[in-house]
Amino acid sequence: MSHDHATRLKRAAEEAAASGLEALLIAPSADLLYLTGYDPPPLERLTALIVRPAGEPVLLVPELERPRALNSPGADLLDIRSWRDGEDPYEAVRRIVSAAGTYGVADRMWASHLLGLEGTLPGARFLPASRTLSRLRARKDESEVALLARAARSADEAFRRICREGLEGRAEEDVARSLARHITESGHDAAAFTIVASGPNGASPHHEPGSRGIREGDAVVLDFGGRVGGYCSDVSRTVCVGTPTEELREVHEIVREAQQAAFAAVRPGVPAEEVDAAARGVIDDAGYGDAFLHRTGHGIGLEEHEDPYLVAGNAEPLEVGMCFSIEPGIYLEGRFGVRIEDIVTVTPDGGLRLNSANRELASVM
Ligand code: ZN
Ligand code: ZN
Ligand code: ZN
Repeated sequence: MSHDHATRLKRAAEEAAASGLEALLIAPSADLLYLTGYDPPPLERLTALIVRPAGEPVLLVPELERPRALNSPGADLLDIRSWRDGEDPYEAVRRIVSAAGTYGVADRMWASHLLGLEGTLPGARFLPASRTLSRLRARKDESEVALLARAARSADEAFRRICREGLEGRAEEDVARSLARHITESGHDAAAFTIVASGPNGASPHHEPGSRGIREGDAVVLDFGGRVGGYCSDVSRTVCVGTPTEELREVHEIVREAQQAAFAAVRPGVPAEEVDAAARGVIDDAGYGDAFLHRTGHGIGLEEHEDPYLVAGNAEPLEVGMCFSIEPGIYLEGRFGVRIEDIVTVTPDGGLRLNSANRELASVM
């Protein structure tokens, strides 16, 4: 699927102007991929896209990566310049921009490059480029929502397949390996991560799957994702091996209600923190407030975690096209954890779930 890089570059230049920036300095990252379609690895050799309020955007690359840059989808829109080993790439930047003023640097630019730029542009001030670019990236266009929806459907299918396969008697890491296979076989280009957290391990939200054998009665948190056309999936479900205890049923139901309450709060114009408050209210009222250890959700797109964050303190209003996770959880140390996560997009009428995997507590073998 091809994206409209010309419009994105133009809007980035407009936003840079509106923010009073001399230029945006974008290193290899989701920002660079978003603006140009060029996706080189970050390296010790400087690659930087320079977007100024006026003038053609410049892509400065190491000489040896010039052919690769010329082959990228947005190459025609860029003035591609190169520097050779032995030259100072930061001097090359200085020749393009004026030394003084304020620059937006990609959040993911390596510190070594930012320090190099600081040394060469002593009068300059640097701000995170995300302040400028997230206004573009947070609102997805139709082609982006379509890719996120495809990724979500593939993740749902991977969940169905791992449940059919059964979990009892298997080590978490073995289940994680199968899950990675299901993620690619169900339509992703690649698997990105697989959390399999069984029994007491479920109380650690980012548990690393290990050798623990999954047994009857365990709650198992499955949280995983991959990429389709660069766009991420991220889904969580908690299943029970065999018959759940009354307590697990109850806690799962509270999390399900919290997830639904947050979803129902999604509307254009609603502050992001209100969605968090909606989920938190349900969990607080049930007496598990201290066991909900994290924010309710994060934006998703070319990165698994990006703006907007659904967290107390973020009053940013939701806008049509924003896409984010809604993933409340309850974590009971030494015992079990429950998390339910869907990706949701904001439409003019409210939220739309991109995931449709069953949110009821499923009993698997
Ligand atoms: Zn997480
Ligand atoms: Zn997740
Ligand atoms: Zn997530």
